[in-house]
Amino acid sequence: MSTTAKAKSELALLGGPKTIDFDPGDMFTWPIVTKEHEEAVLAMLRAGQMSNWDVTEQFEKAYAKALGRKYALACNNGTSAIQCALYGLGVGAGDEVICPGMTFWASIAQVYPLRATPVFAEIDRETLCIDPDDLERCITPRTKAVVVVHYAGYPADMDRIMAIAEKHNIKVMEDCSHSHGAMYKGRETGTIGHAAGLSCMSGKSFAIGEGGIMFTDDQRVYERALLLGHYERTGNIQLEDLKPYVGLPAGGYKFRIHQLSSAMGLVQLKHYPAQMAEIAKAMNLFCDLIEGLPGVKPVRPAKGSGLTKGGWYHPLAHYDAGQLEGLSIQRFCEALSAEGLGSHPGCNRPLHTHPLFVDMQVFGEGRPTRVANLPEGIDTSHLNRRLPIAEEINNRVFSIPWFKHHRPEVIGRYAQAVRKVVENHRDLLAGDQNRRTATGDFSTAFRR
Ligand SMILES: *Cc1c(COP(=O)(O)O)cnc(C)c1O
Repeated sequence: MSTTAKAKSELALLGGPKTIDFDPGDMFTWPIVTKEHEEAVLAMLRAGQMSNWDVTEQFEKAYAKALGRKYALACNNGTSAIQCALYGLGVGAGDEVICPGMTFWASIAQVYPLRATPVFAEIDRETLCIDPDDLERCITPRTKAVVVVHYAGYPADMDRIMAIAEKHNIKVMEDCSHSHGAMYKGRETGTIGHAAGLSCMSGKSFAIGEGGIMFTDDQRVYERALLLGHYERTGNIQLEDLKPYVGLPAGGYKFRIHQLSSAMGLVQLKHYPAQMAEIAKAMNLFCDLIEGLPGVKPVRPAKGSGLTKGGWYHPLAHYDAGQLEGLSIQRFCEALSAEGLGSHPGCNRPLHTHPLFVDMQVFGEGRPTRVANLPEGIDTSHLNRRLPIAEEINNRVFSIPWFKHHRPEVIGRYAQAVRKVVENHRDLLAGDQNRRTATGDFSTAFRR
């Protein structure tokens, strides 16, 4: 008999030693604030120009140039930038806007104040982005636009989406809030659709504080966007039919970005490409190390596909309980977290299941808001579809660490934690209640 009691399992969750038994230091610190960022923000603070928009215009010009788009309009957050883009594209009363059934709410909830109807399409199981075939099925004579989300940085199937959009004469708005710098076959996400909008809040991969920005090459889209919530800059409007409305915000909104964020953004534009390259190297190393383990498969484009994930916002891996004797994803993530690799099951909850998008009468319309501006008596069956993949995906993906530095030894230890849980998964089966409750969150990963 041994004098030292042996833990009944190697797993930290069951009393074994923890794999990540060291402090990861600044491995996950984000954004990375340099002296240059500090000086830019302090200069702005000292100049007392927080509510001006001169530095904001510099930020817009620099970002538009970096992306190769004609117009950029910065906003106080990504939510408003997306609303500006949708209004810019002409979304209005009675229009339908298609959106993937699984994304963060701010890809689509802004269509309500634009008096449009959200229509949710199925996602692709591999990419977690909108399924082009289902997008096409959702199109009706009232469809005005589709919001394409490059979910968790994975570029959506833009060739097919643009072809479908052209065929049906609908507008494409890319929500690049997860995909700053992600490439789709030689083109950067945000340069392919008719407009793009994105968040730059602190948790995103391009992080500047609270802020958002939209892009387009179309003067009308830009000027309409300006008119919605930037009254102070409507003097820039050139289109004759918009000129009479200059001076006041057509939406009744004020979307001006704080210049501390713009100042931060100008500096961050310079640093981001190098940071992104290092993150991609780190994440691909980690994914290479866990690839091939039973039950887990990183969510990333195949090598040589011409697709990249930019700054790898919200990295995820697929989970297949069937390869681990039915071990629940919840128990699996608990075991990972106990090893020191904080992991959550799921991603965003499917939006079409939330009452806001089912029966709520947001403005007391006497009918659910989602149909309030549609003609009465039309077939609305496309609004009531089940989306089995979007509804199930939260039991099929889990978060993996978002490394900000390429440090192979540290990354190797994290990969070892995954390997250990996979290899010892049998030990977890006894205490597993095989919970099949919904995981994920309507606000996951935006906790910062
Ligand atoms: C974060 C996010 C937004 C909204 O951006 P905010 O800056 O938080 O307003 C929109 N769409 C997606 C997909 C997001 O993740």
